[in-house]
Amino acid sequence: MIYLYYTDRFLKYNFGPEHPLNPIRLSLSNKLIEDSGLLDERTRVLRPDPAAEEELSIVHTLEYIEAVREEAPDLAFGLGSEDTPVFPGIFDASCSMAGGSIDAAKKMIEEDCAAFNPAGGLHHAFPTMAAGFCVFNDAALAISVLKRRFSRVLYIDIDAHHGDGVQQIFYQDPEVLTFSIHESGKYLFPGTGFVDEAGAGPGLGYSVNVPMPMNAGDRDFLLAFEMVVPKLFGWFRPEVVVAQLGVDTHYSDPLTSLNVTLRGYVAAVSRIVELTNEHAKGRLLALGGGGYNLAVVPTAWTSALAIMRGELPAEYLPPYWVELFSNVVGYVPLSYPDLEVSPGIETQKRIAAELAETLKNLSQVHSKIHPEVL
Ligand SMILES: [Zn+2]
Repeated sequence: MIYLYYTDRFLKYNFGPEHPLNPIRLSLSNKLIEDSGLLDERTRVLRPDPAAEEELSIVHTLEYIEAVREEAPDLAFGLGSEDTPVFPGIFDASCSMAGGSIDAAKKMIEEDCAAFNPAGGLHHAFPTMAAGFCVFNDAALAISVLKRRFSRVLYIDIDAHHGDGVQQIFYQDPEVLTFSIHESGKYLFPGTGFVDEAGAGPGLGYSVNVPMPMNAGDRDFLLAFEMVVPKLFGWFRPEVVVAQLGVDTHYSDPLTSLNVTLRGYVAAVSRIVELTNEHAKGRLLALGGGGYNLAVVPTAWTSALAIMRGELPAEYLPPYWVELFSNVVGYVPLSYPDLEVSPGIETQKRIAAELAETLKNLSQVHSKIHPEVL
C-alpha cells in the first residue's frame, strides 16, 4: 500500500506572489495524480494533521518554535529573509507541512507500506533556524519518528540543493546515513555539501555528498548516483528509506544550473524504488522538495508515484488537466519523456573531469573511515 498525503491546508504555505515556491504546484500535482487514475485500492490519499509542538520539538528548539509562532521577522532565527519571509499564518502553515511527513512516518511505523508527501522535503531548515524556503524540517522530523521502530534509516536527497539541514541534524548519528547529490556548493545555495563533509563522532562516515559540476546532465548525474548509492544500500543495509525527490535539477529550472531531464529524474527515482524494494522491503517515504518550473513539477511527482506503484510513467497528460493547467498557469505543462540536453563538447569534458575528481576524492575520504564502502 502507498499512502499519499495531501490537504488543501498545504496551500497556505505561501511566501507571496513573487516567491518561487508557488503552492499551486502542490494542488496541480495532486490533481494530475487524481486525473491520471493513480488513486485506487493500492494508493490512498490521507489528510494529515498539523504537527503538534511536542512533535516539532524532536528536532527544533522550543525557542525557535516560539519565534515562528510569533510570526514576526527575526533574522536571528532566519525568519524574514528574502528567501524565507514571514507571512500571516506562517506558523499554522508550517505545522501543516511538517504534519504530512510526520503522519507518513507514523503510518510506516504501524504497517509495512510506502508513503509520499509531495509537500515535504523542506531540507534546509535547522533546529534553531529557518533557511531556504524551509521553516520546519519535515524530513528530519519524519526520520526521527521512523527511528522509533527502525535502527538504520537511509536518507537520499536528489534535490539540486544540498540537503544541509538534514545532514547537520544527523551529522553525529550512525543510525541515519544521509546521502545528497546536488549542484556543487561552489555555485549554488546553500554553499555546502562537499565530499569532506562525512559526519562526525560516532556518525563519521554516515554523511555522503556528491557535489555535481554546473551544467551536468542525465549521463553524469546518473553515473555519479550509480557509483555511490547501490554501495551505500549494500553496506548500510537500511531498514527504511526517506527520499527527497526535488526536481529543481531540471534543465528548465529557474534557480539552478543542472541539465537533468525528466528522463534522468525518472531513472533516478526508479533506482531508488528498486534498491528500496531489494534492500528495505519497499519501505520508502518519498518527499517532494524543490522544483520551480511549474510546467515540470506535477509531471515529475506524478511520474514518481507511478514508479512507486511499479508502473511506467504515463507518456501523455490528461487533456482536462492540461486545460486546467494552462488556464491557471498561462502556459503549457511538460510531458514525459522530454528532450535530451546535450551541452557542447568542451563543457562535457569539463564536467567529466570535475566529476571524476569529485568521485576520486569521495572515495579517498570514505576509504579512510570504512574501506569497504566506496
Ligand atoms: Zn532545491
